[in-house]
Amino acid sequence: MNPRHARYPFFAAAREAVGESGVDLAALVADGDPAVERGRERIERALTEGTVEAADPREWDARDDLLSYPIARILVSLLDSRAAVEKYAEAEARTAYRRFTEDLERDDGARRDPSRIDRDALLREFDLADAVRAEDPKPGQPAGKWLWLGVGAYLSYVDADWGDDWRLVNRELVGGEVRIEREELYRLLREAVGDRVAEGLPFEGVSDDLAAELEAEIADLRDLLADRSVRSDIEVVDPTYFPPCLSALLDRARDGEELGPHARFSLLSFLAGLNLDAEEAVAITGLDPDLVVERFGYLRDESGAQYPPPSCRTLGTYGLCDNEHNHRSVAPHPLEYYSRKLREADPDDVTDWRDRGDADADGTPA
Ligand code: SF4
Repeated sequence: MNPRHARYPFFAAAREAVGESGVDLAALVADGDPAVERGRERIERALTEGTVEAADPREWDARDDLLSYPIARILVSLLDSRAAVEKYAEAEARTAYRRFTEDLERDDGARRDPSRIDRDALLREFDLADAVRAEDPKPGQPAGKWLWLGVGAYLSYVDADWGDDWRLVNRELVGGEVRIEREELYRLLREAVGDRVAEGLPFEGVSDDLAAELEAEIADLRDLLADRSVRSDIEVVDPTYFPPCLSALLDRARDGEELGPHARFSLLSFLAGLNLDAEEAVAITGLDPDLVVERFGYLRDESGAQYPPPSCRTLGTYGLCDNEHNHRSVAPHPLEYYSRKLREADPDDVTDWRDRGDADADGTPA
């Protein structure tokens, strides 16, 4: 086996090698092959640490590492979460970036260690070999510091969020080429890796049998994801699409029932997670304003950071979850459930509660 395939399992040659080896991934899973556990670790470390490096590399051989990549793709597809795919692709890209910068900065390049890569091979992998040329160094300037990259390739990978330095208007652009530093090429290549990894994810068509075999791994990863991918950018508040647990709590609050501490915390942290302020939370729930203001003070710190609402697992332990139709299996956090329902709804059927006039002048729900 080519050890470079294990180090860079998203390369076309590595994927071909897995295909040509005739390895049956379903059989690996059924047999509890070490690659399955390494694949699970790959996703776990991506979600929790932002890397796919093994916690203890001595536990795995190159074969485990190579085969763990397609297993990880199956797992992240079964998670069926955009946040998981993004975190996973970013972690693969970050790990690859660390590896290839280490390879490229070594004086001996790939010559001594076949697992390592040289710059030409890396550029060829992303069809960039003809798009990059080294600038002739000026007197006193180290060779290879400055490069010229075809503008099409540059624009393919540069991200608008990287700041003004990356904007084309702030670059030297001559004859269809953009002048970049060597480290900037590495940054663009990292983006290329992320795009390569994310391509086609999540994919459909994982057989029911394979999904059932991976149920335990998926359950673990869903719990991890639930605790770390709480959305805080939801702007629309339409109780029609609240999950059953929060819908029931909202009804109880509106009916004037005194909620216990867990129930009150769950409801208010969910509403805060939807970016309602304390006044709006009073209006939608009918809860005592002093109590809501006080609780919101705990839920957000001075920087505005939001204490995350409890996950489904925690709501289950509070006795507040009815897990209707087993929907926890597709959305392990109430905010994710709500976000998903909003995305699936016809936009014409979604009305923000604040636009409905549900609350009268003193904030009491109608
Ligand atoms: S599974 Fe989650 S969203 Fe659904 S009722 Fe239970 S806690 Fe609420």
